[in-house]
Amino acid sequence: MDDRLFRTAMGRFATGVTVITTKVNETIHGMTANAFVSVSLNPKLILVSIGEQAQMNELLKESGHFAVSILNDNQEDLSAYFAGQINEERKIDFDVFNGMDVIKDALVNMTCTVQNSVVAGDHTLFIAEVTDLRVQDGDPLLFYGGAYRNIK
Ligand code: FAD
Ligand code: NAD
Repeated sequence: MDDRLFRTAMGRFATGVTVITTKVNETIHGMTANAFVSVSLNPKLILVSIGEQAQMNELLKESGHFAVSILNDNQEDLSAYFAGQINEERKIDFDVFNGMDVIKDALVNMTCTVQNSVVAGDHTLFIAEVTDLRVQDGDPLLFYGGAYRNIK
């Protein structure tokens, strides 16, 4: 099967957009991800699927902790930036929540501890327990058909 056809088909599944953050050796690293799933209510588990080429993959194995920030509809630029699509280095003013660096003003910030990781093809699924979260008002940034949308 052609890769483009697969991506076109998967792109028909509308999602929100998150930025995953972690810290290793006092360095914060962020990465945009839409492969984010709510997995279990008791215990409270989520998963993120991270490509083997992404720096984030090794960093999550090393740190064992990460945060997920669900972006609002004003944060498209941050999504593009943390996907490596803006060719400049920026100084990001992270917020701190439950001791972890998170994206400011996101709809949701949650902190997570990795429980299990499963290599699946060219990605790794990181299944993690949510240790704390907070929810803020606003509308979500959406990703559909390879483009950003909003719900209005
Ligand atoms: P890099 O590409 O090295 O970093 C990303 C960018 O963030 C760079 O510009 C870097 O300089 C900057 N940056 C990171 N940390 C900081 C910091 N502390 N301060 C300042 N700048 C910083 N890939 C997946 O594997 N899974 C997914 O679910 C997924 N979903 C995606 C959804 C969307 C909508 C998009 C657009 C892309 C998605 N990607 C996904 C692709 C992924 O975001 C990119 O491949 C990304 O570049 C891989 O990140 P990396 O860890 O290699 O980091
Ligand atoms: P796109 O048309 O490549 O993405 C549409 C959908 O295809 C995505 O929502 C995702 O479900 C799927 N997809 C895309 N690349 C994938 C990959 N390498 N592995 C598994 N599923 C994948 O949209 P785009 O605007 O061209 O994406 C921008 C960049 O971000 C591309 O390089 C793309 O590969 C990457 N991306 C990766 C993932 C992922 O790894 N899960 C998800 C979204 C986007």
